[in-house]
Amino acid sequence: MAMKHQIIAEACSSRLRIDLGAIRANYRAIAARVAPARSGAVVKANAYGLGVVQVAPALYREGCRHFFVAQLNEAITLARVIGDDATIFILNGLDPGSEADCAERGFLPVLNSHSQIERWRKLARTKGRPLPAALQIDSGMSRLGLPPADASALAQDLHLSREIDLRLLMTHLACSDEPTHPANRAQLDGFYAIRAHFPGVPASIANSGGAFLAGDFHCDIARPGVALYGVDPAPDAHGLRPVVTLEARVLQIREIETGIGVGYGLTYTAPTPHRLATIAIGYADGWPRSLSGVGAAWHRDVRLPIVGRVSMDSMTVDITALPADALAEGDFVELLGPSQSLADVARDADTIAYEILTQLGPRHARIVVDDDGVLEFTAPGERI
Ligand SMILES: *Cc1c(COP(=O)(O)O)cnc(C)c1O
Repeated sequence: MAMKHQIIAEACSSRLRIDLGAIRANYRAIAARVAPARSGAVVKANAYGLGVVQVAPALYREGCRHFFVAQLNEAITLARVIGDDATIFILNGLDPGSEADCAERGFLPVLNSHSQIERWRKLARTKGRPLPAALQIDSGMSRLGLPPADASALAQDLHLSREIDLRLLMTHLACSDEPTHPANRAQLDGFYAIRAHFPGVPASIANSGGAFLAGDFHCDIARPGVALYGVDPAPDAHGLRPVVTLEARVLQIREIETGIGVGYGLTYTAPTPHRLATIAIGYADGWPRSLSGVGAAWHRDVRLPIVGRVSMDSMTVDITALPADALAEGDFVELLGPSQSLADVARDADTIAYEILTQLGPRHARIVVDDDGVLEFTAPGERI
């Protein structure tokens, strides 16, 4: 078995290593931080691209019992891989026509709008019993959820409890990555005012950034996502373990003379003789084209700047700083790892770590490891 794995791992252009032990450690750290509140886990978008089928069971084994996804199809995949004592919340709520399926499968929609609430209540009347759900309040982000006034009106509705079994009242912070932003406390105060209208209903505010804010942001259940996957959610939120490493192979090495151009558009011209390596990763692998001319790969502690444009399947880096025999065709260079974090790449690409993480596509060989060794290999292109 180990042998077969090794062959798959060797026969790839790029490999993504996902450390479940680090995800579990990050979950434990956040759970300890928010205690006595409980920590759930946000595993939408295939656990931020890392593979929900591996990630969710690892979190479940750590005691996580509240899972959040964005869509019904994600909930269906998730339900197959965790115990049925876990609760699955669908953050985007109910797509029209999905109500019966959602109820049948026991998922809890996060009801965000009057239309979603109405459709869930209508189904409840048909079934003659209250249906479980979460309710989202828009406390100031203007994305999803009922305006506060509408939520307090709803709380006065005497028929509500016959139709909706309200299991969670939640809101979402717009600026939790800026701990001193006044909007955090303003949203908290607004949410607490509404919460008073729903006595006994558990509440949830904190995403990853919120888990690092003061204790009153933690309420009953936290909803961390990105921190589980090793990204510090705010400038002073440290101590999380990195989860992913990404490496890609050297496809070709060449020397170029002064004045020779590199890549599409010949946007880079060698100012002096240079040694270049073409690396087997491009924007089709989720390696952003916006890294053209600004990002880097690494070989041990040597930075290898990207020269010219990132192509679909490859990019070219400057290896002039390396000793002549340091890299050969077929060797791997580091894209994410000890020398370059997701945050570093996000900064260079002028985006956020979330986007880098969720775009790491299916073309990488995936190596899922836990503290006790390698769990699973997925060959490039296989379903994840
Ligand atoms: C995505 C999401 C989260 C998780 O956010 P992170 O910043 O990744 O921790 C929590 N709550 C809601 C409503 C979300 O959409």
